[in-house]
Amino acid sequence: MSRQKLGQHFLARAAILERIAAAACPDPRPQPLIEIGPGRGSLTARLLERASRVIAIELDPSLAAHLRARFAGEPRLEVVEADVLATDLARWGCLPIAGNLPYYIATPILEKTVRLGVPRAVFLVQKEVARRLVAAPGSRDYGFLTVQTALFATARLLFEVPPSAFHPPPKVDSAVVLLEPRAGRWGIPDPDAFLAFVSLCFRQKRKTLRNNLAEACGKALVDSWPEAALRAEQISVEGFVEMYRRLPPARLLSDSPRNTPSAG
Ligand code: SAM
Repeated sequence: MSRQKLGQHFLARAAILERIAAAACPDPRPQPLIEIGPGRGSLTARLLERASRVIAIELDPSLAAHLRARFAGEPRLEVVEADVLATDLARWGCLPIAGNLPYYIATPILEKTVRLGVPRAVFLVQKEVARRLVAAPGSRDYGFLTVQTALFATARLLFEVPPSAFHPPPKVDSAVVLLEPRAGRWGIPDPDAFLAFVSLCFRQKRKTLRNNLAEACGKALVDSWPEAALRAEQISVEGFVEMYRRLPPARLLSDSPRNTPSAG
């Protein structure tokens, strides 16, 4: 894959690197941490000033070699040359995660990491993705990714980052988000079945819940719900949890394949 395709936009502004490292390592006692996409190591160097150990996962072999050479005298850095999406991040324990993410796979990385229940994750992502993570019901950015993230974590947009802070500059604005695990997960014991239901609700974003759910859940049942004429984007996470609890066991969707929502 070419460098551009790997999302190689290196963060060059020192003040922003410092803020990301400080957000990722707020504890005065240094802890180990995983970094996704270390690139040439500009964030890695700041993380090593605050963490007890950094496991840095980089797909590009030339950058992994560069990191090994740059930090040759640093035994607290482990460079793992691998695709983060194919890596079992839990094998190092339940560690905080940070990274200036490769934007072409920011969403699958978020989907993967949010389920791990790590103490914190601090990611630099496209501003558009950051907005989706923190969106309120009824807003343009609210969608499946918002609900999926909110099931496992609370999300906060910490600050925005302009293209000029990178080399080369990306075409989009960026933002740093903080994800922290949500205690209790809304009392949902089977996240996959719940998310299959939410996914169905968002199947066609412009259609009502009645339209999206009638076939899978039964028209009579959905018609009896006060939300039947609403669209999924108008429903809060609590609202989805409430509707899900109303489904009789036979309508629970744990065995159905995940439907891909039409948008967001
Ligand atoms: N952290 C560096 C910085 O801030 O300057 C680089 C960030 S750059 C936006 C994303 C990095 O992720 C690149 O170094 C790229 O090679 C790496 N990368 C891309 N796809 C990856 C994958 N699937 N697994 C691990 N790293 C990946």
